[in-house]
Amino acid sequence: MSNMIRCKVLIVEDDPGICTFLKATLVAAGYDVIVVTSGQGALDMVSSHCPDCVLLDLGLPDMDGNQIIRSMRQWTRTPIVVISARSMEEDKALALDLGADDYVTKPFGAIELLARIRAALRHTRTTAEAGEIALTGSYHVGELEIDYRKHRVYRGGVDVKLTPNEYRIVALLGRHAGRVLTYKTMLKELWGPSASSDNKILRVHMAGIRRKIEPDPNEPRYIFTEVGVGYRMAEDDISQSSD
Ligand code: CA
Repeated sequence: MSNMIRCKVLIVEDDPGICTFLKATLVAAGYDVIVVTSGQGALDMVSSHCPDCVLLDLGLPDMDGNQIIRSMRQWTRTPIVVISARSMEEDKALALDLGADDYVTKPFGAIELLARIRAALRHTRTTAEAGEIALTGSYHVGELEIDYRKHRVYRGGVDVKLTPNEYRIVALLGRHAGRVLTYKTMLKELWGPSASSDNKILRVHMAGIRRKIEPDPNEPRYIFTEVGVGYRMAEDDISQSSD
């Protein structure tokens, strides 16, 4: 018997085939699963059953999934992972900016989906401690290490000498490792609510960061680009091995 507390995942999906796949995948991974097939059903279930995570299809028979995100975010931080056939960059950015934690485009594999769910769950657990982590913790993946206390980033033990702005970008992505951060979210976090919405500043800094931290800047292994949406940092080694 495992003494692990089982996380409860609400699946909101009207396609029976995808529902079956999602349910089987999650149950096999040890989650408790609830399934609803409509938007209203989702909102009722979130308030009555308090799931730990919501997997949300955007194209539902009675309402658009984005309405559900908007509505949920007025009263709960429960992680939302969007699963959608809509693959347009604007659709992803809209759902993330409304407050979804992540976005997976159909078709997707079980391994990818489970990794996104773990990252979303981990993020809610660590949000309260985020300030503390920023002061004292560190992040490790492969050869890369972020030392939040010293404000330094090392590759293979060698200080890569980031500029202050480069460091802030890497530190922000590291604290949300495994999740996509949209350009808009990053600009607001880094330079305040009145920051320009021009992504160029991020792209320029990212080119510099990649030259310093990536063995091959054209094939990034630490910070990935979600084209037209934002950036995602690879999940750290500790959170992967603890699952
Ligand atoms: Ca659908």
